[in-house]
Amino acid sequence: MRSAEARGSGPVEGRIVSFDAALEIVLEQAAKLEPGHKEQIRLEDSLGRVLAEAVVADRDQPPFPRSTRDGFAVRAAEADAGSWLRVAGQVKAGESWNGRLTDDEGIEIMTGAPVPEGADAVVMIEHVEQQISGGHKVIKLAPARRIMAGENIVPRGSEAQAGGIVLAAGTELGPAAIALAAGCGAARLKVFAQPRVSILATGDELVDVHEEPGSAQIRNSNSYALAALVTQAGGISMRHPIAPDRRDDLERMIFAARNAELLLLSGGVSMGEYDLVEEVLLSMGAEFLFTGVKMQPGKPLVFGWLPARHGMPAIPFFGLPGNPVSTQVTFACFVEPLLRAMRGASVDSPRFVQATLGDCIDGKAGLTRILPARLVFNRVLPEVRLVVWHGSGDMAANARANCYAVLPEDVEKFQNGDVISVLLK
Ligand code: AMP
Ligand code: MG
Repeated sequence: MRSAEARGSGPVEGRIVSFDAALEIVLEQAAKLEPGHKEQIRLEDSLGRVLAEAVVADRDQPPFPRSTRDGFAVRAAEADAGSWLRVAGQVKAGESWNGRLTDDEGIEIMTGAPVPEGADAVVMIEHVEQQISGGHKVIKLAPARRIMAGENIVPRGSEAQAGGIVLAAGTELGPAAIALAAGCGAARLKVFAQPRVSILATGDELVDVHEEPGSAQIRNSNSYALAALVTQAGGISMRHPIAPDRRDDLERMIFAARNAELLLLSGGVSMGEYDLVEEVLLSMGAEFLFTGVKMQPGKPLVFGWLPARHGMPAIPFFGLPGNPVSTQVTFACFVEPLLRAMRGASVDSPRFVQATLGDCIDGKAGLTRILPARLVFNRVLPEVRLVVWHGSGDMAANARANCYAVLPEDVEKFQNGDVISVLLK
């Protein structure tokens, strides 16, 4: 998972970078990470996992020339000439017709059945005339219909050839890939292990969800948000107890939490007297790749590496801002792409899509704004509108949002009808 050269060359203090530069730094680190070990799992448990070894076709696909229609297997030249053809037999899916089609014959055939030898096309049942002649069923192409060789037949091996790779290593297994693997008899798959992600919320004001908060306390929601985001991103989340804003406790709890492939801290990264995360990480030998991002929300985000220590390997960490919307936004922008790479999937930018803005919004000089918004899908260009929110603590607003509107820095105004980028949640 870790790689010594993936780490920075030394502590970079006070390094506040643009949104694009931060993304570049994270993707650069992601590209250098090695995925976890390989493990074998059952096909039915593979949704969202990433193949560590290719899936190979165990035989040609389709394994026989397959009829795509209910109808009659024929020789196209004869049928197209309008000859009457004697129906010499029937073949349904799961069976084969032994023998070879001769001139003046057709074989009744069902969708999914192997096309008999000698036939080179299937005429749809709706496109023939049928009669009984001399005690036999005969068929003929209906007037004004044509049939050409190859029609309504998928040739053997046209989708995959025996021994050929159908799913390459690195493929993320969605329903379509799982179907393909099943079709090739791959009941077990070799995939990369899921990265384990430690989640450590910091803050003296926090109590857990089961506790009754005092009048000045709040519940720790970030640990639960992050655990859900990690699961959604294909990692295994490990929630740790809340860390107080005290140096010795923080250090002890960060040390315990580093037994993972990625460490996510929340809170304690702003400028306040009790924002101790950066300082404690530094005292533990952390190297910072950035200590802030010119974005809103999410500015205090820090990213770096804790060095190998006491037999434990180096580990990347994010110090995520404590405000709940900032935590979730920064995860979507930066943590998710890193986790993708750790899972063995391709290194990719977050999945931005284009949408028409249905609002007028002010931009911010020097800050990329990433605001909770709702995307209304339509077939042409989806429309995006901001949800009303009261700043980066407004979890209710974020819960109403299904995306984030991405507004680049240094644009004074975004107008109704402008096409902007949107990050899906
Ligand atoms: P901080 O970054 O620690 O200064 O926190 C910024 C804001 O986020 C403060 O209002 C905190 O109370 C709040 N906050 C910090 N951590 C959490 C958390 N785990 N869950 C919910 N809110 C939090
Ligand atoms: Mg705090």
